[in-house]
Amino acid sequence: MYRTHTCGELRLEHKGQTVTLAGWVQKARKMGAMTFIDLRDRYGITQLRADESCGEEVARAAAGLGREFVIQASGVVEERQSKNPKIATGDIEIRLTDLKVLNAAQTPPFTIEDESDGGEELRAKYRYLDLRRNPLKNALMLRHRMAHEVRNYLDSKGFLEIETPFLIKSTPEGARDFVVPSRMNPGEFYALPQSPQTFKQLLMVAGYDRYFQIVRCFRDEDLRADRQPEFTQIDCEMSFVEQEDVLNLFEGMMVNLFKKVIGVDIKSPIPRMSWYDAMDNYGSDKPDIRFGMKIHEITSAVQGKGFSVFDSVEYVGAITVPGAAEYTRKQLDALTDWVKRPQVGAKGLVYIKLGSDGIKSSVDKFYTPEELGKVAELAEANTGDLVLILCGAKRKAQTMLGVLRIEMGNRLGYRDPHVYAPLWVVDFPLLEWDDETQRFYAMHHPFTAPKPEHLKLFYSDKKEDLEKVCANAYDFVLNGTELGGGSIRIHEADVQQRMFEVLGISKEDADYKFGFIINAFKFGAPPHGGLAFGFDRVCALFGGQETIRDYIAFPKNNVGRDVMLDAPSRIDDVQMDELFLKSTAQTKK
Ligand code: ASP
Repeated sequence: MYRTHTCGELRLEHKGQTVTLAGWVQKARKMGAMTFIDLRDRYGITQLRADESCGEEVARAAAGLGREFVIQASGVVEERQSKNPKIATGDIEIRLTDLKVLNAAQTPPFTIEDESDGGEELRAKYRYLDLRRNPLKNALMLRHRMAHEVRNYLDSKGFLEIETPFLIKSTPEGARDFVVPSRMNPGEFYALPQSPQTFKQLLMVAGYDRYFQIVRCFRDEDLRADRQPEFTQIDCEMSFVEQEDVLNLFEGMMVNLFKKVIGVDIKSPIPRMSWYDAMDNYGSDKPDIRFGMKIHEITSAVQGKGFSVFDSVEYVGAITVPGAAEYTRKQLDALTDWVKRPQVGAKGLVYIKLGSDGIKSSVDKFYTPEELGKVAELAEANTGDLVLILCGAKRKAQTMLGVLRIEMGNRLGYRDPHVYAPLWVVDFPLLEWDDETQRFYAMHHPFTAPKPEHLKLFYSDKKEDLEKVCANAYDFVLNGTELGGGSIRIHEADVQQRMFEVLGISKEDADYKFGFIINAFKFGAPPHGGLAFGFDRVCALFGGQETIRDYIAFPKNNVGRDVMLDAPSRIDDVQMDELFLKSTAQTKK
C-alpha cells in the first residue's frame, strides 16, 4: 500500500497513529539537526519532520530531497510546536520513521506555488507542472462539480446523455470548420462539429424527447481574446416544448448550479429582456445589468440646432456617468481618444458636465444652457454628473455607447465579479442583413424557427419585412457575457427549405449540405427546441474569473497552439501521400 492517508486528511485526532503518505516535496527546510518537509498531493499539504530520533538513513534521505521529488513517508502523527492555521493539517506533523524516494525530479522551471514566478508561455509549456498549483487545481475541481451537478439535474428531469459523432459534415454555426481528410475516401473530408446541432435535432425526430451532452465543439475562428478552438458545451434539446418550457427548465438548472456549486442564491424568475430593449437601453445583446447607466436617445433634442455632426446622423444617444462632472479636460481628451480606438470606432465624443457652477459642454457654441439642460434631463443626469454622447447609425451608435458604458462601469467599480446578475435576452430578430455581402445571415443559426405569428412575413420577398421577423430565440446572459443560447426550431421541411432560400443557399447546395435533415423532417419531426451553454465560460464566471483558459486542463494559446505538444505540426510525406494531400504552405521544417 503506497499510503494510508492523503496529505489533506490528518488532524489532531490522529495523534499517535502511524501513517504513510505519498506525494510531492513542495519544500524541504533544514533547521539545525531537523529537516521539515512540506509534502503535497491533490488534497493538501502535510508537514513531515526528520530529526535525530529518525535514524541516520532517514536523515540522509531527507537532506537529499529536492523540490517536486516524489516520496513515500511513514511516521507518527504528532502535535505541532508552532501551528499553521492557514492549512487544514496545520495542527499536526509527522515524525518520520521511514522515507523513500519514489522518483527524483529536476528542479521545476518555475515555482509551484499559488503565485508562481513563471511567465504564461513557460507555464503553458509545462502545463502538467502548472496544473499542480492550487488555483488551477481548484478551477478543475469546480469544473468537475459543475459537470456532476449538471448531470444530476438533467437526469432528474428525464434527460438522456447521448453522444454524437465528431467526424461529420459541416454544421452551420457561423464559424469555419476544422476538417479531417479521409484516407479511405480520397479527396474527401470530414468536418468536426461546431456543435451537435443537427444530431440533436435528429434525436428529436428519433423520439428521444430530452437529450443532453457535455460535449466538445470545434470552431476555426480567428481567436479573439479568450476563445478556444475547441471548447465544451452543455448541449440540450427537448421535444413538444415551447420557449417558456425551455426557459423554465434551464433557469432551474442555472439556479440549482449557483446554489449547489458556489452557494449563491439567485432570485427566480430571472429577468427577461427583449433583444430590442437590450440594444436600445444597453447597446448590447448581452447587457451587464449589475449597474444602470442606461443609454438614452436624445436625437430629436439635439437636431436642428446647427450642429451638423448631429444633424447628419440617424441617431444620437447618451449615457450619464454619476459623479464624474469633475473629469478634467485632460481626462476627457483621453476618453475621446479611447472611443476613437478601432475597438470602439467612434469619430468623436461630446460631453456635458453638470458642475455645481453650471453646465459646460464641448458643444457650447451650438446649444444654449437650457437646451443642454433638456438633454441632461433626458439622460436622467443630476448635478455632479457627466453626460457622454455618441452618434451615428442607430445600432452602431448604440453598440459604441454600450462599449463605453462597460468601460465607465469598470472605472467606477460597478462590475464586481462576485455579484451575479443573470437575465434572459429573448425575441431576437431571425435574420441579420449584411451590407457587405448583400445577403441575410441567420442571427442564431438556420434551424431557428420564425415566431409563428411572423410566418407570413417570413414568406415575403421584401427585405424590410424579413428584417422584422422575430424568432423564439433566447440567450442566457450573466454579467455582460453570453453563457448560452438556443431557440425553438423549424420542424417542417418546407419552412426549412424557405430558410435556406432566404439565406441565399441554392436548393442544390441545401440538398448537398443539409439534405439529411430536410429529409428527416418529412418523417414525423416533433416540434422541438433547445439550447447550449458554453461550459468553460460558465465555470470561469462561477469561479469569479474572466478567462476560460484556467478552467480547461490543456488549453491552446491565443494563436490556437498547444505549446506543450507543439501542435499543430507538420506530418511526414508518407502520411500526406496516404491522405492524398499536398501542402502549398511555406512552413518551418
Ligand atoms: N447549437 C447552438 C450553438 O452552438 C445552440 C442551440 O441552438 O441549441 O450556439
